[in-house]
This record gives sequence, C-alpha cells and structure tokens, in this order.
Amino acid sequence: MSKDFHDQGPRRVGQVKEVTSLANPIIKDIKALTNKKSREESGTFLAEGLKLVIDAIELGWTIRTLVYAKAAKGKPLVEQMAARTVASGGLVLEVSEKVLASITRRDNPQMVVGIFDQRWKPLRDIRPKEGETWVALDRVRDPGNLGTIIRTADAAGASGVILVGEATDPFSLETVRATMGSVFAVPVARATPEEFIAWRKSAGVSIVATHLAGAVDYRTIDYRKKPVVLLMGNEQSGLPDQLAREADALARIPQQGRADSLNLAVATAVMLFEARRHLLSLPEVK
Ligand code: SAM
Repeated sequence: MSKDFHDQGPRRVGQVKEVTSLANPIIKDIKALTNKKSREESGTFLAEGLKLVIDAIELGWTIRTLVYAKAAKGKPLVEQMAARTVASGGLVLEVSEKVLASITRRDNPQMVVGIFDQRWKPLRDIRPKEGETWVALDRVRDPGNLGTIIRTADAAGASGVILVGEATDPFSLETVRATMGSVFAVPVARATPEEFIAWRKSAGVSIVATHLAGAVDYRTIDYRKKPVVLLMGNEQSGLPDQLAREADALARIPQQGRADSLNLAVATAVMLFEARRHLLSLPEVK
C-alpha cells in the first residue's frame, strides 16, 4: 500500500485530486482491493455506484476515498458526497473513465466508487431479542449466494448474518455487488464452529437448522418461542454433524421433481420468509 492511501492527514484533507494515469500509486492501491489480502490488510473495501455510496454514508459508514468519473463532476449528489467525504477527512479523486474501468474491471463502470472501512459485528455483542431472526451460514463459498442472502435478510427484516467457518468474503466486489447495498444495512459476524456453538449456549436462541434429511417440515415449526437462528449448510457438502447436532429442529423444505436440493440462497429465502411470517402480523391491505 502506498503511504498516500492511508496517510490522509491534514495535507490531503480538502483536496480533490485529478488522476488519469493507471500507474498512479493510489489507483494501484485501490485496484488491489479486489484481492482479499489487500482488503484484510487495509480493513477497507470497494462499493460501486452513487446510490450505494449515498446509502453507506447516510448509514454512518466511514468513507476513506470517493472516486468519480470526470463526466460526473458537477452533479449535485456527487458534489454532496464529495463534500461529505472531505469533511470526514477522506480523499476525493476525479478520474478518467479508463481509470474507473480498471478499478472495477468493467467496460461500462459506474460513475462513482467509494472505499469504506469494513465493519464486523463481534459475535459476543449479538444478544438476540424476542422476535429477532438471524441467519448462520456454514462455510458459504459462493460470493453471489452470500450477497443474495445478505440482500434477502435485509428484505425479510432479519437482524444479521453469522458466517461460521471458512467463508467467502462479504466485502469482495462480487459479494458487495450482489447485496445491492444491503451490506451496509445488515450486520455481519464471523465465528469458528466452536465459537458459534459456545455462543448459542449463552445466547438463548433456538437453532433451526436446514438439512436435506431433516425430520421436520419447515412449515410446522413454531418460530416464535425464542429468537431464531436459521442455520444453513455449505453449498457442496451440506451441514456437518458437528453443527447439525446443535439444532433444536432439523428442518426440511419438501421438494418435488428431480432436483436434489435448492440453491443455498433460495433455501435461505424460503426459510427467512416463513420464519418472519410467523413473527409478523399481516400488513393491512390498502
Ligand atoms: N449436496 C448438499 C447436501 O447434501 O446437503 C446440498 C446442499 S444445498 C445446495 C445447501 C444448503 O441449502 C443445505 O445444506 C441446506 O441448508 C439448504 N437446503 C437446500 N435445499 C433444502 C431442502 N430441500 N430442505 C432443507 N434445506 C435445504
């Protein structure tokens, strides 16, 4: 990482820097954020698009750098976000479309990209209350699945997502894209299987695990007794015995046809909306 990227001391504050060279060290550092190692080292990540940047800033996420295309200069919302970035000590870069395309690896890049501090919810701080639903994912591998699940958890009114075991990075470009901005609204925690098992014992939650060999039809479960954690298995191998043993109920979504199983994100959506349906009274028909 170049010194400029992190050392945004008083010298830089208030500056808008014009960059057209792909070889610029700040641009190289931003491009490196497509690698997990660089994201981990810097504790930051990239989000594309003005809407996402606005949502993130509105929700109080710390923006380190705002990058926008020359063509977006003067647009009121872009100027507002640039002003807020500068006011919070961040760096603003005005770049050529070629530079933006190289950052996002897209031919038709978004006009605006933000670099934000990552935020992880510490597992010990999760004390689910009555009526809450959490999702726990065992070794989720696919960024598209994880992003879709975070987006769906947001839409279903779930309280957050816990990544159990070695998981794909919620702050990768692909995952963030798939969340459509919900990564800024849904708390994400991570835990080893052992940490998760220890946590569930003290958290007072009911674990509803899903399994192709589950004994209980998911529609017959009472999701209202305690805060619920929906525990979902890995895409390839499903839920390991170590985690399945922790379940208060092992749920199955009955299927027809020839498919062996549902896609992980689809199964999570089915479970989430069923659990939430039990917890929420029906909205009034207008
Ligand atoms: N081959 C894997 C197996 O044997 O479990 C398939 C895993 S499936 C793609 C990923 C996860 O989605 C499963 O571990 C489970 O949590 C959930 N899932 C998918 N279809 C399901 C169903 N019909 N009933 C319950 N859970 C299901």
